[in-house]
Amino acid sequence: MTRRSFVKNVGAGLTAAAVGGGPGRVRRVAAAGSDLFEIKRVADGVYVAVATPVYKVNSNAAIIENDDGLLVVDTHSKPSAARALVEKLGEVTAKPVRYVVNTHFHFDHWQGNEVYPATFPNVEVITTEITREAMRRKGLARIRDQIRTVPGEIARLKSDLAAAPTADRRRVLEADLRQAEDYLDELKSLTPALPTIVFEQAMRLIRRDREVELLYLGRAHTDGDLFVYLPRDRVVVTGDAVIGWTPFMGDGFPEDWVKTLAKLEQLDFTHMIMGHGDVAEKDWLRFYRSYIAELIEAVRQEAGTGASLDEIKQRVPNRLAPRYEAGLSKYGEYRPWRRLVLTNIERVYATAL
Ligand SMILES: [Zn+2]
Repeated sequence: MTRRSFVKNVGAGLTAAAVGGGPGRVRRVAAAGSDLFEIKRVADGVYVAVATPVYKVNSNAAIIENDDGLLVVDTHSKPSAARALVEKLGEVTAKPVRYVVNTHFHFDHWQGNEVYPATFPNVEVITTEITREAMRRKGLARIRDQIRTVPGEIARLKSDLAAAPTADRRRVLEADLRQAEDYLDELKSLTPALPTIVFEQAMRLIRRDREVELLYLGRAHTDGDLFVYLPRDRVVVTGDAVIGWTPFMGDGFPEDWVKTLAKLEQLDFTHMIMGHGDVAEKDWLRFYRSYIAELIEAVRQEAGTGASLDEIKQRVPNRLAPRYEAGLSKYGEYRPWRRLVLTNIERVYATAL
């Protein structure tokens, strides 16, 4: 049996990820290290580690195998998750990790960074100049914020657990509580590893067998989003600028986001490894971009008639639902569009009127 035979091909999963699929059921689990990711082959030497939907969310990782070692994109929310992935890399290859790339500064994409230099002494961690600065200014502060706020979250989970009406609900809450407590422990002992190489607009890694383009295309999900493009394999890695569920816009720039995704669409590719959710085809990018564009348009129109933010939050979801609800609700109650669209509307209202 070769190492690769453990790894599933992306393919069957794609249908489920295609645009317009009905609301899916996602099993929430108390994932042990070995269950945190499922590694799938996307192209020759290109893999995705799809993160299991868990209470404390982890990003996906892209794994790109070059002649001299691996490039891994994003490092999840905590060192234990990054360690779980490093163990799983053995299913793909025995090569060391040479490069880690962070797509943006959010906790669930870089808080596991420290595992890589500890495991692979020659590793370089790469991101955009803006993202490194955001990690330094905001990412580190948010680690301290979480150390302050997660105890409150734990207290809430405990009181929800005490009031849980069914055994099923109790099991879910117990697992969530365990994750929150473990996460807090890890936060307290984080030694965040900031990137060691930065670039402004673009950077090309020219290996003997593959070129990897790292691109900054403008503001989108954050002000410093990085995309990874593999021209030969026709694959892009999008970070959270495109994901499998409703976008998180809390640090985003909706109007720029639409333009940045239009630039991304110009690239010649067929598959996207996204920050969250299963691998998708290019159709999903068009769907995603038009969701953000129509959201902006709908909020503007309603605001133009004098509607208040509360009224806009009542009206816009119903306007957008026929085109977007099913597609953006594939992860069901794990990430429900009907709830998340309200925060999207708030962000558009605050930034794009
Ligand atoms: Zn993010």
